[in-house]
Amino acid sequence: MFPIKLTNSLSGQKETFKPLVAGRVGMYVCGPTVYSDVHLGNCRTFTSFDIIYRYFLYTGYKVRYVRNITDVGHLEGDADTGAEDKMAKRARLEQLEPMEVAHKYTLGFHDMMKIFNTLSPSIEPRATGHIPEQIEMVQEIMANGFAYEKNGSVYFNTVKFAKEHPEIYGKLSGRIIEDLISESRDNLKNQDEKNHPSDFAIWIKGSEEHLMKWKSPWSTGFPGWHLECSAMSTKYLGEKFDIHGGGFDLKFPHHENEIAQNFGSCGSTPCNYWMHANMLLMNGRKMSKSDGNTITPQQLFTGDSVHISKAYSPMTVRFFMLQSHYRSTLDLTDDALLAAEKGYRRLMEAYKVLNTLESNSAAGELDEEINFIADAAFANMSDDFNTPKALASLFDLASKIYSFQAGHLSIASVGKTTLERLKKLFQDFIFDIFGLIDETSSGGDQEVVGGLMELILKIRANARTNKDWTTSDQIRDALNEAGIQVKDGKEGAAWTRI
Ligand code: AMP
Ligand code: ZN
Repeated sequence: MFPIKLTNSLSGQKETFKPLVAGRVGMYVCGPTVYSDVHLGNCRTFTSFDIIYRYFLYTGYKVRYVRNITDVGHLEGDADTGAEDKMAKRARLEQLEPMEVAHKYTLGFHDMMKIFNTLSPSIEPRATGHIPEQIEMVQEIMANGFAYEKNGSVYFNTVKFAKEHPEIYGKLSGRIIEDLISESRDNLKNQDEKNHPSDFAIWIKGSEEHLMKWKSPWSTGFPGWHLECSAMSTKYLGEKFDIHGGGFDLKFPHHENEIAQNFGSCGSTPCNYWMHANMLLMNGRKMSKSDGNTITPQQLFTGDSVHISKAYSPMTVRFFMLQSHYRSTLDLTDDALLAAEKGYRRLMEAYKVLNTLESNSAAGELDEEINFIADAAFANMSDDFNTPKALASLFDLASKIYSFQAGHLSIASVGKTTLERLKKLFQDFIFDIFGLIDETSSGGDQEVVGGLMELILKIRANARTNKDWTTSDQIRDALNEAGIQVKDGKEGAAWTRI
């Protein structure tokens, strides 16, 4: 197996991965904020890290993969503006307890992760379950002189930290302190409480109406936005671990400030490698709800959107994501999805044809070429998890497979061992590394179909609870078209093949 190289955002360079402990990987990825339905952009980032996780597992590493749930949905700046946090606001709109909101959207997130066939992380800690750890970290940062209290809130002293550790602060995002000052999100708000506009809150005093708050030595309040990841990564992976990941948009301020907090509390930066997955766009533009340039996973699966011409299956969407490198932006268009659907089917078809091929030759003249392409598939994956290039290698092999099937190439030109290797390579890449499910076999894979149907019906039941009859009918009609009949009864919906 080739050594794994990855692009470290900290150096901007591709580096050979060297684990802290031989054979093991500690990886922390920033998880979702569970105050609304998970969107496709989130799914892209989590799918990117799912493939990275899968490849480390495949190459024999023992991985502890920690992905948190942000269930304190505050925005930084709450302390300054007194604004309600996202979670509490949503709770008020929906007349629910904040934890009810968090629970509902956590379940929705899990459902979506299953639909996309992403593996569960090893640990999925919640911010609200780690308040004591966060308070302790604030105390450590204060004891080290990098934070100060004002009116019950505690702020990280960025100026002091940047002066004492210019080699650390700003290194990840490539910003210097003057930029940090001018770009700080809340530099116009209530500056009198902070010593400096670039300082950020690590503990925030909760207002009377604030719903989610806890007792602390400074006030009854809640932790700052960046603190949970520092506290939970340290708790489960130690003061130094291998990889910290997230979307590009989290580099600054979230990850830059995480580094400051970790160093400020224990004198060590959290990890050796920072990895960032790039953004999902739609029709060349940032996805945005306000200008209608957005699509939900449900709309993709039902086809109910002006942006697409038809419904696309979860595996078509996963395949679509595999077609671009995780560090490139990915532009979702109807044409690209149509192409992905074709590509996915072609790959699955090649896999099926391959499994019908048998060779009696001990060796053949195509062995060298096939082994060369097979090696290239792994070399491409090991080269910063280059899924589009690895896919290209698989399609090179797929052409050969189709040529064997059509009789343009003789199967006798492949040796038995090489053919066996080819079969294992397809099986491993498609299912273990790329995490695809075979949606193309009708009648086969009952268990998977059953699981998917359960999830789809759950989404439909949610739509019905929300009186979203359009989505509910759309799902029923789309299933009908696919040869599945849904019947609503007292016990919920049941489905049968028609
Ligand atoms: P959030 O729930 O907003 O905290 O985001 C969860 C994860 O999704 C983070 O790693 C974000 O960087 C990532 N993310 C948010 N928007 C997008 C997008 N449009 N494309 C890709 N990743 C995104
Ligand atoms: Zn985080």
